[in-house]
Amino acid sequence: MISGLMKLILANPRGFCAGVYMAIDVVDQLLDICPGEPIYVYHEIVHNTHVVGRFRDRGVQFVESIDDVPEGAIVVFSAHGVSPAVRQQARDRRLTAIDATCPLVTKVHAEAIRYSRKGFQILLVGHRNHQEVVGTRGEAPDSIQVVESPADIPGLRIEDPEKLIYLTQTTLSTDDAGVIIRALKEAFPSIKEPPASDICYATTNRQEAVRALGPKSDLVIVVGSRNSSNSVRLTEISENVGTRAVLVDDASEMQDAWLHDVETVLLTAGASAPDDLIRGVIEWIAARHQLTVEQHDVRHEDVEFGLPGTLKEVMRSRGIDPTGRRVVREDCGVRNASWFSDHAIPFSTVDLTIGASSGH
Ligand code: SF4
Repeated sequence: MISGLMKLILANPRGFCAGVYMAIDVVDQLLDICPGEPIYVYHEIVHNTHVVGRFRDRGVQFVESIDDVPEGAIVVFSAHGVSPAVRQQARDRRLTAIDATCPLVTKVHAEAIRYSRKGFQILLVGHRNHQEVVGTRGEAPDSIQVVESPADIPGLRIEDPEKLIYLTQTTLSTDDAGVIIRALKEAFPSIKEPPASDICYATTNRQEAVRALGPKSDLVIVVGSRNSSNSVRLTEISENVGTRAVLVDDASEMQDAWLHDVETVLLTAGASAPDDLIRGVIEWIAARHQLTVEQHDVRHEDVEFGLPGTLKEVMRSRGIDPTGRRVVREDCGVRNASWFSDHAIPFSTVDLTIGASSGH
């Protein structure tokens, strides 16, 4: 039964970021250029159960240890990056290693290497067991200590407070990171900041959209997997601005009770959540409520990353010219009125620009 008129605000930006497009592109390209060859990916290529499941269905094997990759096979390092020890293990097994690490994660690795060589101690703000933090820490294990919260500060071993820098995981909540960084500055007034914010543009922009649009909504729905750091952070940002939030992997997890007495719902998605899952949630709501859909643009994004050099080398070694080889981005179609009419969803577009465009 279709009930009550509801407004759905689609946060923009939402969903896939440049690093996720690139990482998925890498595996897609390998499937294309190495038909019939086993392809291994070290850890989930991105933190989304559907992305991983779809690749698994196409024969890709995900491993948690390099020892599980047969000698000489192809292995892809995920978007979250790996430590030098993992790279060495891959060399020892004579693997063809393709590096799908997001360049913005690589940037943090490079900062860690640079400052540890200069004799700095590094305080890495992030989640100790997240693959990205494990990888970054591995670049300079003797120089890096992980700080998960201000409560960790008294336990830090600091040799020279004048030679101290903090770096951060790329997908932190800007709210939480701000609290930790303020506490670090209070404890160590001379602590150096990273040359540019380590929290990436995609994380920052998706959180900014929720911060701006959450207060206009009764409920925020975040599409993303539970192990996706940036997706979970979106729910936290929403709670911080006083709007209840739920995290769903896909429409099958939606619950009628959540929409009880809800007039306006904000829909967003973590950086690793595919567009079709977002559409699925819109369709789920539209099947139950009279819906108007508005996309609100908070930031403009035009970041793109090229294919990694390691993949281009493999292409050339197989006589394939890597020039122009990119997977075409599928548009979610939310701006396309015909998609809404096809799906019987009343479409009203209010491209309300709240913030200035930013060309990160
Ligand atoms: S969320 Fe940020 S750091 Fe992570 S893959 Fe996307 S752009 Fe890169």
